[in-house]
Amino acid sequence: MQLILMGAPGAGKGTQAAFLVKKFGIPQIATGDMFRVAVKSGTQLGKQAKACMDAGKLVPDEVTIGIVRERLGKDDCKDGFILDGFPRTVEQADALNKILADLGKTLTAVLNINVPAEDLIGRSVGRRVCRNCGATYHVEFNAPKVEGVCDECGGELYQRADDTVETMTNRLNVYVESTRPLIEYYKKAGVYYEVDGRQHIEKVTEDLINVLTSVKG
Ligand code: ADP
Ligand code: ADP
Ligand code: ZN
Repeated sequence: MQLILMGAPGAGKGTQAAFLVKKFGIPQIATGDMFRVAVKSGTQLGKQAKACMDAGKLVPDEVTIGIVRERLGKDDCKDGFILDGFPRTVEQADALNKILADLGKTLTAVLNINVPAEDLIGRSVGRRVCRNCGATYHVEFNAPKVEGVCDECGGELYQRADDTVETMTNRLNVYVESTRPLIEYYKKAGVYYEVDGRQHIEKVTEDLINVLTSVKG
């Protein structure tokens, strides 16, 4: 099963990917997470990515496409994967078609988590992430049992450097301009599905699984 989880910044892609990983046993490929690992390691890629991320801009397509191509070629992707945060431009989507063709695979479904713009800044600014395992929380909507501590692993929760009102404003503009056109792109390809991301986390998961059940027939 080759899935794309789409949605504006803060729509709930990472939160839902975690459930789908558990349910289907295929890996989550999150370009944002891959860039954050590179930033932490201080590599050349990390330096380049950090400048873009801090500004709320996209990392250049050729860089992003290269890391996804390499990742999808790995052994653990052979039975499928969940792309989270990629593609974000038409150029990336075209490149993904080529990568999939080279791997002899096709897209199973593109799942768009639809959340209105007015909810997204609050979701992003309240987001907290585990330094150790990457689990995602929200101070209000999905609070950990103990403030600042991960339920899953006891790790420390932190706030992402780009989860500020200022950077989110740029990220939302970039989304409208570069990423939202992919909705039409994947509608034309006949693989597009949408769920209402304003619902409770569990209900969004249920809707996603219902879509996938109908797609797989
Ligand atoms: P969110 O989950 O809030 O949408 P991500 O973790 O996916 O954020 O992405 C954080 C940042 O990483 C983006 O603002 C962008 O700078 C960079 N990034 C992630 N994925 C891509 C991509 N596919 N193309 C270009 N830049 C990306
Ligand atoms: P994305 O990966 O699309 O940027 P996340 O999954 O990181 O989004 O979610 C962004 C924030 O919103 C997190 O703090 C998360 O806990 C919270 N969140 C996710 N889904 C929901 C939901 N259905 N209702 C309310 N808050 C949510
Ligand atoms: Zn954790």
